Amino acid sequence: MSELLNQLWTPELQAALTVVVVLLVVLYLLSIVWVVRDAYLRGSYWYVWAIVALVPFVGVVAYCLLRPPLLQIDRDEQELEIALKQRQLMQYGECANCGYPVESDYVLCPSCHQRLKNLCPVCNHALEPAWTVCPYCATPVSVASRGRRGTAAQGRQARPQQGAPAQRTR
Ligand SMILES: [Zn+2]
Ligand SMILES: [Zn+2]
Repeated sequence: MSELLNQLWTPELQAALTVVVVLLVVLYLLSIVWVVRDAYLRGSYWYVWAIVALVPFVGVVAYCLLRPPLLQIDRDEQELEIALKQRQLMQYGECANCGYPVESDYVLCPSCHQRLKNLCPVCNHALEPAWTVCPYCATPVSVASRGRRGTAAQGRQARPQQGAPAQRTR
């Protein structure tokens, strides 16, 4: 029996076995590195996962099953996207006069012609009612004639045209 084993245990087999063992060890070490790196990127407790990953192969499988679903960088991006969408939604409002949906850069309500924004006297850009200076050409805009500063922050209320105080009182 031992003779048969000796015959089978050739240097070639020995070498092949060594290669397999080395590959497995390398794979094991790489799996630990991957788990630590991935857990770190996902913003979870990577040192805890490093200990889990020390269990050969089972640790990696466990991590794959239980890891946080999103990369931290993706999560940040997603939050940014949501914030942007909300900002975009905020730009839409209603005409205070007739309730018609208007966008942030509308100067007049397309339905009832109520003035929604002021125009810069120099460059004719639409200006938010709360702005004291035109951001496009740096012309100072007087806000003294405007009374309803509280609604200005919402940006969707109809605003009187600058220099037309009679419109405001209705
Ligand atoms: Zn309107
Ligand atoms: Zn301007």
